[in-house]
Amino acid sequence: MKSQIQLLPFLCCCFLTIYGTTVYARSAVKQKKPKMERVNYGRPFEPLTRPAFIALPPGAVEPEGWLRDWCIAARDGYTGHMDEYDDDFKRAWAADYKMTGENLLWYKGAWPYEGGGYWFDGLVRLGYALHDEGLIQQAKRRLYAVADHVNPNGISFLWWLNKNNPEDQKAVASALEGWPLWACGLLGRSMTGYYEGSGDKHILKALETAYSSDPDGLRKITGNMSNPWPAFDTYTWTGNKGIADALNAMFDKNRPGLKPNLNRYRTAPSLKPGTTVANQHMVEFLEGTTPWAVAYLWTGDSSYLKAAMGWHDLLERVAMQPTGVPVADEWYGLTGAFRGTETCDVAGYVWSQSELLAVSGEGRVADRLERAFFNAGPATVSRDFKTHVYFQSPNRFVDKSPNFPHGPMAEGGSYQAKHLPLCCTAALNRIVPYYVTNMWMATYNNGLAATCYGPCKVTALAGDSVPVEITCKTDYPFNETIEMSVKPEKEAVFPLFFHIPGWCANPELNINGSVIKIRRNAKGFTCVNRRWKAGDTVRLHFPMTVSVKTGHDNSLYGPFDGAHKPTLITIPEKNSTQGAPYASVSYGPLLFALPIPDTKDANTPDSTTKWNYALDAQGKLLGADIRVERQAMPDKWDWPLSSPLKLQVKAKVCDWNPTSDKPLPATSVANEGQSESITLIPFGCTKFRVSMFPVTERVLELSESEKH
Ligand SMILES: [Zn+2]
Repeated sequence: MKSQIQLLPFLCCCFLTIYGTTVYARSAVKQKKPKMERVNYGRPFEPLTRPAFIALPPGAVEPEGWLRDWCIAARDGYTGHMDEYDDDFKRAWAADYKMTGENLLWYKGAWPYEGGGYWFDGLVRLGYALHDEGLIQQAKRRLYAVADHVNPNGISFLWWLNKNNPEDQKAVASALEGWPLWACGLLGRSMTGYYEGSGDKHILKALETAYSSDPDGLRKITGNMSNPWPAFDTYTWTGNKGIADALNAMFDKNRPGLKPNLNRYRTAPSLKPGTTVANQHMVEFLEGTTPWAVAYLWTGDSSYLKAAMGWHDLLERVAMQPTGVPVADEWYGLTGAFRGTETCDVAGYVWSQSELLAVSGEGRVADRLERAFFNAGPATVSRDFKTHVYFQSPNRFVDKSPNFPHGPMAEGGSYQAKHLPLCCTAALNRIVPYYVTNMWMATYNNGLAATCYGPCKVTALAGDSVPVEITCKTDYPFNETIEMSVKPEKEAVFPLFFHIPGWCANPELNINGSVIKIRRNAKGFTCVNRRWKAGDTVRLHFPMTVSVKTGHDNSLYGPFDGAHKPTLITIPEKNSTQGAPYASVSYGPLLFALPIPDTKDANTPDSTTKWNYALDAQGKLLGADIRVERQAMPDKWDWPLSSPLKLQVKAKVCDWNPTSDKPLPATSVANEGQSESITLIPFGCTKFRVSMFPVTERVLELSESEKH
């Protein structure tokens, strides 16, 4: 296997040459030599196994409309100003901040390496997305502080250490099983983003040196796998043999030494109800499962992609909150109204789904990405992007409640300038730019794919390397229509792929005013391959419907003793009735909530607001009685309480006094008595809210009958 893999890039080139020659020979008599296939975004040394989509370089997709307003808030809030939030961000990878010995433990001084990695990853991508020279220069300064020093005798990006000094090797290995190397991978990710955006060879050289100088360098990382992906990317640009050796060693099944906590994710899990699984800290789960997708690209063994996808399917089955992110407070566990999701894991989830979307090409992963971004994304930060929570929960009534089992616990639910540990303060910078950058991707047949939606402009090559600009005018997800104008520099034939959201039953596609029949392929995309010219228009209409989903709050069955240790989680039966019943209301990709208005700041709720309602229903179909109200979008977007989209739903006052032990009434609420109309707004526009509602008997009965 080892020698085969090393040959892959050569085989790849050969294959193309042979193919070209063969075609030429067959048709030599009458035809000119056909052009060699050139993949616009192909890389010189990529292996034969290709991802479904190729990520475009940061900066190819620029946010517009409401999304641009939010990106600018991110820039003017945290992302452009992290040095002002804590001195640890000044220290992060600074040339004079060199931890050695036991100070390589994160809590003894090495934390800024993690924090810097997270922050720079967001800083680079936001800088390019906004084409903001100030942010790009800030990123360049910080990355050069490392790139100027990386050398073959260092240990990965820890350039001041010496790989030939046993003391240094021991210090890294004993710092929580190689934790500093995991932090190096976060920096590696930001460097690959910067290189893609800039083409800066100085950064590429640093990546090459860090990942090629030790054939066991990747394998030594015992906690999780932040490094293989940036190492793989670097290989595809350079063909460096040292990196190939390290990747071969990393994914060699026959080599012992990979920790059991990583090895378990090498194969897909069983999703059979009743199966038990030991859970894990969510940051480690995301960093330990997702990169098996890169093992698939490197080795060609599709079971690795199945493994990565399978573990994420398991996560969705057991832990997915209505907000689009899994329970992660800080370990994953069963759904609950007071279960938390750490902001690090909102960022990690957006990152992981972006990567899995590119490799698998599965539209359902794009659906997950949209749902997480539009709902959990805005709940992590205040409207001005200057304070954040460590944990968010589907229901929030007062500040510093509920209690969470880890990290800053109850304090973690509060919007503050920073939380200790600083992980979330750093990681939140990744959420917005990762989504924006991955809204469009390239394909190997030189097309472009609209993977996730929102107002934006993509500038990229398509067809025979023709520069194309596509503007997406829309208020999506706050409305249902996306108007695209396609502007190739000259007329050109190329395919455009459009993701059809999984929740949309009756999508419509119009090109230059003519209806086009949508053929949704197995992965949830439709393709239009034609000759495009400037002025062409594409109109996508995704009619949204109200969806009421019921489930059970099982928070009492989670690991709530505060200890950092795995708990056994049982994959629930499909129609399990264990736990308190709840319902959540969605419209398209947006989760809706009853807002408890925040008044003077994001931690002060309006105490006069009535919120003790059970969701009710009239008629024979759940959600059919819910009324949708629309208003114009505000001039400037900041996730306001006065939302442009509102739902009028029927609800019944109920006896409900939520506590950490009993977040929801144990049973459904009796049907007797009047129901009234209440107004819901998008979850992302609320700071205090109910989004997991108690239910009336009627709702439960309708839900049961719809399930059967
Ligand atoms: Zn965190």
